[in-house]
Amino acid sequence: MTVHRRLLDRDPAYRQRREEIENLTLARKRARSRGRTGTTLVPVVVHVVHSNLSQNISAEQVASQIAVLNEDFAGRNADLISVPPVWRDALGNGRIVFDLADRDPSGAATTGITRTSTSTAAFGDDDAVKFAGAGGADAWPADRYLNMWVCHLHDLLGYAQFPGGPAQTDGVVIDYRAFGTIGTAEAPFHLGRSATHEVGHWLNLFHIWGDDGLGCAGTDHVDDTPNQAGPNTGVPGFPRVTCGNAPHGDMFVNFMDYVDDRSMVMFTVGQVERMHAALDAARPSFPVMAPQTDPPSGWVHTDLTLAAGAPDAAGKPVVAIQSDGKLSVLYLGVDHHIHALQAK
Ligand SMILES: [Zn+2]
Repeated sequence: MTVHRRLLDRDPAYRQRREEIENLTLARKRARSRGRTGTTLVPVVVHVVHSNLSQNISAEQVASQIAVLNEDFAGRNADLISVPPVWRDALGNGRIVFDLADRDPSGAATTGITRTSTSTAAFGDDDAVKFAGAGGADAWPADRYLNMWVCHLHDLLGYAQFPGGPAQTDGVVIDYRAFGTIGTAEAPFHLGRSATHEVGHWLNLFHIWGDDGLGCAGTDHVDDTPNQAGPNTGVPGFPRVTCGNAPHGDMFVNFMDYVDDRSMVMFTVGQVERMHAALDAARPSFPVMAPQTDPPSGWVHTDLTLAAGAPDAAGKPVVAIQSDGKLSVLYLGVDHHIHALQAK
C-alpha cells in the first residue's frame, strides 16, 4: 500500500490507469462475468539478487515456489482441506499457470532465473532492487513476463506493484527467507505463500480487510469475502468475529490476509473474477489457452509424463511423427506434462 500511495501521489498516469482498471472491473462485476474461460499462461523470470552465498538461492528453491503458485492459483493446494465448510462454495480456481521463461527478451534460451551479485546488504520498498544501476537487476518487459525479485528485504516479507504502474518496476519482490518451500525458506513463512499473496496484489487484489486500519468501512471490492476489521496474524481459530460478521467471522484462511503460510489457503470466486478483469484491463498480453478437451474422435491420448521413463518436459515442442503410416503428435500440455495424440 505504501508503494501504491507513492505512485498515486507522484504519477498522474498511474492514477488515470488505476481508474480505468477499476471501472472495467466494476463493469465486469455488474455484468456478472465469470472471468476468463480457459487457462492464462504467465511466463515468469526470477531475479535472484544476492549479497552473500546463502541469498543466492538454488534453482530447486525457485522451482518449489513456482510449484506453489501453480497449486494455489489453480485451487489444487492440498491444504484446501482446512477451509471451514461454510466457505467451500466460495472457493475460486484462478485458472492461471506460471511457467519459468524458456526464452529471454532477445529470444535466447534461458532458465528463467537471473543472478546478480550486489553490495546492498538489505533492500526496502523503494524499488532499488529493480534497477541494475541501484544495486539490483533490471526488469524484463512487463507485458511478456511476471518479474519476481528475490533478495534480502529488511522489515517486510515482500511487496508488489498493482496493475497500471510503470513497466520498469512492475512485478513482485520477496525476501529470500520467505520464497519457496526449501533451502533458505524459514517458518512460519516457508510454504511459498508470500509470493501467492504478492502475485494476488499484482493481479489487483486488495487486502481482505480493506486497508482501512482496524475500521469496518474499508472494502477489498470483492463481494464474497466477509467484511473484516484489520489483518489477522499467526494461526487464528474459527470463528474470528469482527465488524458484525458473525456467525462465520473473518475469512482468515484467505491468501490476502496476513496470517502464517499454513493458515492461508484460498482465493474466492469473486477474487478470481477481479484478477481476470485485471488481466483483461491491464495485462491482456498474457495469453489464454483453450481448456483441455477430450481428444478428437479417431485419436488416442496418452500422458507420457505419467508413463514410466518419460523424458523431462523442456521447452514447448509440438512434434508430428509419421510411423507405420500412423500419425502421432507430441506436445507440452498446460499441466507441464508431455502428451501424445496418436491416430487410431
Ligand atoms: Zn499484501
